[in-house]
Amino acid sequence: MNDKVEKTEAEWQEQLSPEQYHVCREHGTERAFTGKYWDHHEKGVYLCAGCGAPLFSSETKYDSGSGWPSFYQPEQSAPVAETVDRSYGMVRTEVHCDRCGTHLGHVFPDGPQPTGLRYCINSASLDFKDQ
Ligand code: FE
Repeated sequence: MNDKVEKTEAEWQEQLSPEQYHVCREHGTERAFTGKYWDHHEKGVYLCAGCGAPLFSSETKYDSGSGWPSFYQPEQSAPVAETVDRSYGMVRTEVHCDRCGTHLGHVFPDGPQPTGLRYCINSASLDFKDQ
């Protein structure tokens, strides 16, 4: 999926709930343990809430204890891109959907093997498709 999705702010506001809009388009963060997927254990694929691109498989989801859905790697060829986030006096690696620009969360180097990475993702940035 290399086809970019571009929408106006009005179109995003119409598509997304106010909380989703805040997280996805304004780099917000949902409160821990409040999202719909942190404690979700169905088998399937997590999609970008903005454009529907498959981003993470349930097979790479694990319980990080953080209160956000956590994965140790994206789906193969998923459009998950990184930027450096220097907000709040920290240096973190922000992750977003490279297809539509939806902010997803952050990736930290304290995840489980085989990658050692923790993709800490907002439920509000995801949809789920079961298999
Ligand atoms: Fe997207």
